[in-house]
Amino acid sequence: MVYLDNAGTTALRAEALNAMMEFMSENYANPSSIYRGAGYAKAAVDAAREKVAAAISAARPNEIFFTGSGSEAVNWAIKGIALEHGGRGRHIITTAVEHHASLYAAKSLEKQGFDITFLPCDEFGMVHAEQVADAIRPDTILVSVMMANNEVGTIMPIAEIGALLAELNAQRGNEKRIYFFTDAIQAVGHIPVDVTALGVDLLAISGHKVYGPKGVGALYAKRGVKMTPLIHGGGQERGRRGGTENVAGIVGMGAAIELAMAEMDALSENHRKMRDALIAEILTKIPHSRLNGHPTRRLPGNVNITFEFIEGEGILLLLDSKGFSASSGSACTSGSLDPSHVLLAMGLPHEMAHGSLRLSFGKDTQKSELDKLLEVLPEIVSRLRAMSPLYSG
Ligand SMILES: *Cc1c(COP(=O)(O)O)cnc(C)c1O
Repeated sequence: MVYLDNAGTTALRAEALNAMMEFMSENYANPSSIYRGAGYAKAAVDAAREKVAAAISAARPNEIFFTGSGSEAVNWAIKGIALEHGGRGRHIITTAVEHHASLYAAKSLEKQGFDITFLPCDEFGMVHAEQVADAIRPDTILVSVMMANNEVGTIMPIAEIGALLAELNAQRGNEKRIYFFTDAIQAVGHIPVDVTALGVDLLAISGHKVYGPKGVGALYAKRGVKMTPLIHGGGQERGRRGGTENVAGIVGMGAAIELAMAEMDALSENHRKMRDALIAEILTKIPHSRLNGHPTRRLPGNVNITFEFIEGEGILLLLDSKGFSASSGSACTSGSLDPSHVLLAMGLPHEMAHGSLRLSFGKDTQKSELDKLLEVLPEIVSRLRAMSPLYSG
């Protein structure tokens, strides 16, 4: 199999699995207890916290809170700020192209009486800092913009928005402060993520997108940022997130993110070259194809192409039969009849949004695998077009 769905999930790397093993067998102690084994488990969790903090240049490890998934971290940031600060303002600014975790968290708040501005994007999936500036109101409490889009790979101007909010907050003062959250789940391990340089208050990460285990994530919350807990329980995570720690998962995420940081520069340079070559080849070899997302400000390992007149699922099934795993912005893959909300927000008509293919590279992706893909893809597209009632050419 050639795996080209690394934006969907990544393989657990051997080093992370090895680090996890002892905490899934002999070292099963609860880190909150006081016997010796417990201290050892707690030390392992704290070491992982330091690794995650270092990966995003957080000033202090205790600004990192482990969660049960990336989705939980995202939900916590948005709902936690809304619940904590909703008394002084009920306006939240986000974008139309967020991951469903953010989008639906915001929509759930809308039902509870919050006023949500979903900023539209341009044709490249980009939302601009001026749009955020124009949307700000006296009752705005939160701005939530993802760092890099999981479908089309577009990288948002987070540092620019952060600088704008810092300037505004200096005038508005603490009682009217606007918090800034970014879902950096697709960015970490691919492009530099530095919470200070970005000017964010909150930032979400997921373990399984960086070769760590599934079911573990982390929320960075800058010192002094108050948000209401979503999970009440024991005093874990400094009283902010109840639930006995997923020690093995946390340790695995720490090991994985540390390695991802060490490998990032070389990997992203290699990905960028392979990405640009693959895009150019596909667009020249296959007529009626177009690139989705920004041509340059995009994740190094993301290729998203629409093939007109055909359905993404068809492409995926035929690719699968040839040994390639990929994903699409099309209907059935997401379990709904609507095509990708991201592609629609970018202005693609429904039939074009249905014909999209996302190829996302991983650390083990080889140029030779992409060459093999290029041998089968034109044939797959022609076969589907020959059967398509939309195609006359
Ligand atoms: C994968 C992903 C999530 C969800 O993370 P999980 O750990 O799978 O819950 C949220 N946002 C983005 C951008 C993602 O890519």
